[in-house]
Amino acid sequence: MVILLDGAAVAQRIRERVREEAAGLARRGVRPFLRVLLVGENPASMSYVSSKTRSAEDAGMGAETVRLPEDASPEALLSEVTRANGDPAVHGILVQLPLPKSHDASRVLDTIDPRKDVDGFHPENVGRLQQGRPRFVPCTPAGIVELLDAYEVPLAGRRAVVLGRSDIVGKPMASLLLARDATVTVCHSKTRDLPALCREADVLVAAIGRPGFVTREFVREGAAVVDVGINRVNSLEEAPEGLRRSERLRRILAEKGKALVGDVDFDDVAPKAGYLTPVPGGVGPLTVAMLLSNTIKAAGLFG
Ligand code: NAP
Repeated sequence: MVILLDGAAVAQRIRERVREEAAGLARRGVRPFLRVLLVGENPASMSYVSSKTRSAEDAGMGAETVRLPEDASPEALLSEVTRANGDPAVHGILVQLPLPKSHDASRVLDTIDPRKDVDGFHPENVGRLQQGRPRFVPCTPAGIVELLDAYEVPLAGRRAVVLGRSDIVGKPMASLLLARDATVTVCHSKTRDLPALCREADVLVAAIGRPGFVTREFVREGAAVVDVGINRVNSLEEAPEGLRRSERLRRILAEKGKALVGDVDFDDVAPKAGYLTPVPGGVGPLTVAMLLSNTIKAAGLFG
């Protein structure tokens, strides 16, 4: 029987830990504070940002969103980053991605003070992670390690395959698994024999942004499968063939007219996997929890 990796429950425990740490800092006169910079009105970004700031406030921290219009100039955004860098009341800075096309995301991320870079995307923090002396670790992969640890999924000496090589998920995920002594393979759109490679994995992390892409032929019997994908589906016709068989998807679409699905075909993979994350309720809540954890850490650096 597959064991569901309940990200929401693990995230709740992390948030409780964060709340205690925030209270401890408050007793020393430090109020951890997160400032989010949001450019434009991308609905998904707006929803992520409000969930992040609300969660920070729930955990006893301060949080605010500075909103810039869709047509804000690159200089205007850079100057907001510089202002946040110089504000002693701000401990954590997050620039919500993706940015509108007129902005150079790398330049913006390079400008964030690495001691306030709670997303862990500044090259200094990326380098520190690579060198095995992490400061801020990107939230999604950090949350996945917390989740695997919570269920005592062994990593040392195991084969891990990471599907996707983005700077946000795939690459830092591979670094973290390597740091935990897994033998790691990173796959991407040019990888050949993908299902066979993935079948070697004791731990398979799928982060490609393709609904239901990972089917049972990608999965070794008993493997731990972590589904990072968040894909919006508006109709059954839009969904790949495998997912159209899903009763659950059919029901959600009938009720709400839209659904979130992962990169893993849950119904197909569940009978074969040993552990599996649901979407939603798997990796997503951990990303926010780890952001809060990083913000506490940032406040500790200054407090
Ligand atoms: P991304 O930047 O678009 O990167 C996707 C990666 O997948 C790339 O490395 C790409 O390969 C690879 N890829 C795409 N199609 C492939 C295919 N058919 N076969 C093999 N590899 C393929 O995406 P991302 O930012 O990492 O996000 C991935 C997914 O995770 C998205 O659904 C996103 O919404 C979700 N996500 C969720 C959370 C969360 O909190 N749960 C957080 C972040 C992201 P190339 O490099 O060769 O192009």
